[in-house]
Amino acid sequence: MGCNVRHNMDMTLLVAKEVSKSFTTAAEVPLAVLVNVSLALSRGENLAIMGPSGSGKSTLLSILGTLDSPSEGTVEIDGVNPFELPEPELAAFRSQHIGFVFQDHHLLPQCTVLENVLIPFLADGKAGGEEVGQAERLLKRVGLADRSLHRPAQLSGGERQRVAIARAMIRNPKILLADEPTGNLDQSTADSVSELLIELQQESAAVLVVVTHSSLLAAKLQRRLVLEQGQLVA
Ligand code: ADP
Ligand code: MG
Repeated sequence: MGCNVRHNMDMTLLVAKEVSKSFTTAAEVPLAVLVNVSLALSRGENLAIMGPSGSGKSTLLSILGTLDSPSEGTVEIDGVNPFELPEPELAAFRSQHIGFVFQDHHLLPQCTVLENVLIPFLADGKAGGEEVGQAERLLKRVGLADRSLHRPAQLSGGERQRVAIARAMIRNPKILLADEPTGNLDQSTADSVSELLIELQQESAAVLVVVTHSSLLAAKLQRRLVLEQGQLVA
């Protein structure tokens, strides 16, 4: 009693309720990209989202990741509606609870591998000894202990994605979102990168949503849904 810590008893970490998204374009009618999309994922669950190019996969992932807001409907992350937070709090919430992996690694070329992994802490202005130790342990876990002082240009494509995964996981996020994470990799590198992503997600019990064209990657995930004409179908 008197304790303000809110406990989310049902373990559901990510909920989208009737999410729709339209973009205004030069045409008279707005472009409806997502129409009443709903989904719910609990701790440790993962999901593949497939679908043709232009079907709205990245749009959905951006909304789940609070980078873009829905036109209609709501998103809840561990019981919080992020779109009700004022912008500075939303940015802090995002950097604390959500990890992103993109098709292009989005690493900063001028920073070392270690510095890149520490970037999510910089939003809060702290990357001290404890955080550096954490980053070093994680780099060891992703097989890059001996690359921490390399720059991204000195790594292979698969190694860069491993750094991107380490950066996404460094704050132990509740939600891990990956948009075509293996899209630029050859098949055997793609296999090892996707296995690493899933292993780390399972160890941390985060929710993982992966957008992919690869049926091999999709097959490794617990659930698969297809985005078609704005709707998620089995
Ligand atoms: P996918 O990732 O499945 O290839 P996207 O989510 O990137 O698809 O895009 C879905 C559709 O929404 C596309 O037709 C795209 O042109 C359109 N779209 C995406 N973002 C915007 C935007 N900011 N403004 C207008 N249209 C957009
Ligand atoms: Mg896309």
